[in-house]
Amino acid sequence: MTFQSSAARAGFEDIPASTVTEGSSFFSAEEIDVSQYDHIILCMSGGKDSIACLLHLIDMGTDLGKVELWHHDVDGREGSTLMDWPFMADYNRQLAMTYGLPIYFSWLEGGFEGEMLKENSHSRPHWVETPDGLIKLDRDTERAKPGTRRKFPQVSANLQTRWCSSALKIDVGRRALNNQTRFNGKRVLFITGERREESANRAHYNQLEPHACDRRSGRKARHVDSWRPVLHWEEDRVWDALKRHGVISPIPYRLGWGRSSCKKCVFNSSVIWATLNHYFPSSIDPIANYETLFGTTISRSRKNVVELANSTRPIEINDREALLQATRSDYYLPIIGSADAWLLPPGAFEKSGCGPS
Ligand code: SF4
Repeated sequence: MTFQSSAARAGFEDIPASTVTEGSSFFSAEEIDVSQYDHIILCMSGGKDSIACLLHLIDMGTDLGKVELWHHDVDGREGSTLMDWPFMADYNRQLAMTYGLPIYFSWLEGGFEGEMLKENSHSRPHWVETPDGLIKLDRDTERAKPGTRRKFPQVSANLQTRWCSSALKIDVGRRALNNQTRFNGKRVLFITGERREESANRAHYNQLEPHACDRRSGRKARHVDSWRPVLHWEEDRVWDALKRHGVISPIPYRLGWGRSSCKKCVFNSSVIWATLNHYFPSSIDPIANYETLFGTTISRSRKNVVELANSTRPIEINDREALLQATRSDYYLPIIGSADAWLLPPGAFEKSGCGPS
């Protein structure tokens, strides 16, 4: 088993697996020895790529007793429904149950909407489910300065401009890692499902590297590696994994979305806004109202969502079952079926804009 270090990319020099634990970064690390870890945390969005990570762990013969799923609730748990699909939390819960895995939810209090409305104030606490119960992680209001957002995250690879990914997912995950003593003195593998094929930005990611929360040489002796097992996969391999395991396509792809991102993702194309407006009447109104309030559109085209929706035709959706599920917060459909009856969803290989870069 060998790896290509990021330093050695140009020369394609192979690095022995034993050096992985010494803090190097590896551009390519397609297979690693996961048995060397005490905890395997898989960030499960409910999209095809994170599901493919889980199926790959199963195919590798991973001890699932070490695996736990983490899901970040984009809208928080305080009542906002601005951004995400209503079924997403329950879908992830049932996916975890199907494979007998624990799932821990975490979120920024107030979610996307609460953070977006921040005005000369501090961000709100994080909430993290753990094996020992729910913990609240307050902010350091002594050192951090108050801030104002009052506009949508702007489409960019820069996570300060596109603040939703960092504020609602990356930061939440880091604080969840940093604030659980069960990881101290342990070896933790932190898995995410990015793929190089998705964007020029992701094409440059390292496949294996120390995570930002790694403190292997510190007092806590917390060893955390970040691994992206499907980084080198092309999309057909992802769908093939779901088919082999009989995992029924998640709902967004059945509706024609190319990605399973937030329902009202800032990356949505005009076609997606038109589709939302057509099949889920008035669902884009809250976005339009905030565009008016802020005087800034969600799209960098400076067209508001109503103009975008009216500028093109919606996707033609024939999957009535998926449409009904998309309106419900309880996930009532099966998670897996037979591989023989498996169907490639209309959203497969679809490049319509509806997900982060
Ligand atoms: S899916 Fe889109 S809107 Fe949701 S957090 Fe990611 S980039 Fe932001």
